[in-house]
Amino acid sequence: QPAPLFGAADIRRLAAEVDIRPTKTLGQNFVIDGNTIRRIVAAANLGTDETVLEVGPGLGSLTLGLLDAAERVVAVEIDPVLAAKLPGTIAQWRPERAAALDVLLEDALRVTELPHQPTSLVANLPYNVAVPVVLNLLERFPSLRHGLVMVQDEVADRLAAPPGSKTYGVPSVKAAWYSSMAKAGVIGMNVFWPAPKIASGLVRFTRREPPATTATREQVFAVIDAAFAQRRKTLRAALAGWAGSPVLAEQALRAAGVDPTARGEVLDVAAFARIAEARAEAAD
Ligand code: SAM
Repeated sequence: QPAPLFGAADIRRLAAEVDIRPTKTLGQNFVIDGNTIRRIVAAANLGTDETVLEVGPGLGSLTLGLLDAAERVVAVEIDPVLAAKLPGTIAQWRPERAAALDVLLEDALRVTELPHQPTSLVANLPYNVAVPVVLNLLERFPSLRHGLVMVQDEVADRLAAPPGSKTYGVPSVKAAWYSSMAKAGVIGMNVFWPAPKIASGLVRFTRREPPATTATREQVFAVIDAAFAQRRKTLRAALAGWAGSPVLAEQALRAAGVDPTARGEVLDVAAFARIAEARAEAAD
């Protein structure tokens, strides 16, 4: 007999208890379907010794499932009402696991310290800040080895896009600096309350070493931003402002072994790192 997870009636009752009206600005769409939670937790491939970082636990739908699968859960929630409610909810539904949960009232875009080093990120992310949250956490917490996030379906496609594909862009390249990302499924709208207007997608990731380069992450990300700010232009033209002139841009591109008439959307993160490195060396 699997442990009980929240259904629609539970979520509505919990929301009524704290008188919460879900807001769009905080991306508050709560999962009301236990099977969806089981699917997310299974797709996350968690080991029983893991510490999971959950962003935006909300009313606790996913938190319950994570507590059944991992050793600890550290939950970071920006909404004070929800953060205050969660420990009591878990104490009621999983009293034996309540001590394995830490709830932090914080903004996931700003959080710098956690009470335990997380090994995995599993979250149903607030949609408007999903990409910056993922990048920020991968940067701040090197202990994160893997994870699974639920985001808008089109954002899931972008995060997992390979070079040269239609949806490849800044999120794809920056995510690839930290990890390899792969789409792990689509989730319909009716498993949420309130129901969002668009489908959600699951993205699984595994950390990998960034490309070997003498350029800093900031330098590499600056080239990526410049290349995609004018993605229809050739790299020589798109990177002219970043390099100082079209000639300097062409020099950096040639030194990096990249065709100056190519477009940024065909380059992988290692190529962007070579361009940043070539420009930094020429400037020295
Ligand atoms: N995990 C819950 C579930 O699956 O039912 C709720 C997911 S809901 C899509 C997103 C949650 O993230 C909300 O609880 C919202 O208050 C919270 N949130 C929004 N922005 C945040 C931020 N910057 N940092 C931390 N939590 C945030």
